[in-house]
Parts: sequence; C-alpha cells; structure tokens
Amino acid sequence: MPTVEENIKAFMEGEPESTGLPLIVHPVLMMDEIVVEQRPQWDNKMNKILGACRECSWKVALDFNTAEDLEVLCNVVEDGDIHLPNGATVAAFGILSKDPQVYSPRPCCISGTDKHKTGPQQATFIQQILTAAKNKKTRRNNTYHMASIASDGDAKRGSALIKLTMNRDLAPSSSIYPVLSNLELMNL
Ligand SMILES: [Zn+2]
Repeated sequence: MPTVEENIKAFMEGEPESTGLPLIVHPVLMMDEIVVEQRPQWDNKMNKILGACRECSWKVALDFNTAEDLEVLCNVVEDGDIHLPNGATVAAFGILSKDPQVYSPRPCCISGTDKHKTGPQQATFIQQILTAAKNKKTRRNNTYHMASIASDGDAKRGSALIKLTMNRDLAPSSSIYPVLSNLELMNL
C-alpha cells in the first residue's frame, strides 16, 4: 500500500536536483477539500474497502475477504460508529520556484474527512504528513525545508494548525525577534 512517504519520494524523483553545491528547497504543504461520492468502494489492488472516514475507519477491518466483512461494515455505518464522508482532504506539496512545473502542487495524500472530528484530531493527521515530509527531507544534494502550511478557511483545520504551529513563543535568538518584539500588540 503506498504510504505518504512513498508518494513524497515519487514526486521528488521527478524534480531537478543540484549536481554541484547542496541545494535548499522550500516546499509548501497545501490542503483543501474535494467532494466525493458518499459510498464505499472496493480497491481490487489492495483488496480493501475504501470510502470510510480516516478517523473512524480503524474500528472495523477493511479487508474484503468474505461477504460477512461487508455486512459488518454496513452495520457499523448504519449504527453511526463509522462514517462515509462526502468530502476528502487533499494534501499536496508545491515547491517555491519560478519554474511553473516545479511550483505546481503534487498531491501526496487523499483522505476521507470526518466532519464530526475536532481540530486537535485533525492536527494528528496533519502531523503525520509533516513527519513523512521530514523523513524524506534529504534527496542526494537537495534538502527540503518546509516553508509554510496553506489551507482554505476551514475552521477546524484552522484550530488544528494553531495547535501545530503556534505552540511556543518566538525565541529571542530568532533573526526576526528584534523587529517583532518592539510591536506592542504582536503575539510572539
Ligand atoms: Zn468518522
């Protein structure tokens, strides 16, 4: 089964790389929702049932071996224990570059969104993608330093991003500290 790390590795392989000096590359993680049909689907390559929301799907075995597996799935959906989402989060990486081919976003993960879940629970999902990117940050002469995380205006993802990114004071050793620390109302 392809993991987020493998998807990141796959798109990196198609990117230009430095043959001389080490090159620092700045990717941006972008996230938005797409609408998906609210129904389970069988993936014949993995022999798994897809279409359950990411936060709840662990509650039931999604391997398709017998008709009973489907029955169990239908029952837990009916009982509301797991959900069939009508939206999916797409996470993509784009590199800050003047080259449109390098700049364009490459999706690394598409995952059914559970509207019932809170911001902190979404933070776990985003953290998994960030960890995958960190694990793949070196590719021969290229080093990838995450520049920023971009999102649509989804309030729950907003609170997830606050939890992930606004979790400590700006260090006095930071190069922007002398500029920002003089601003009275700045939240450091
Ligand atoms: Zn759910």
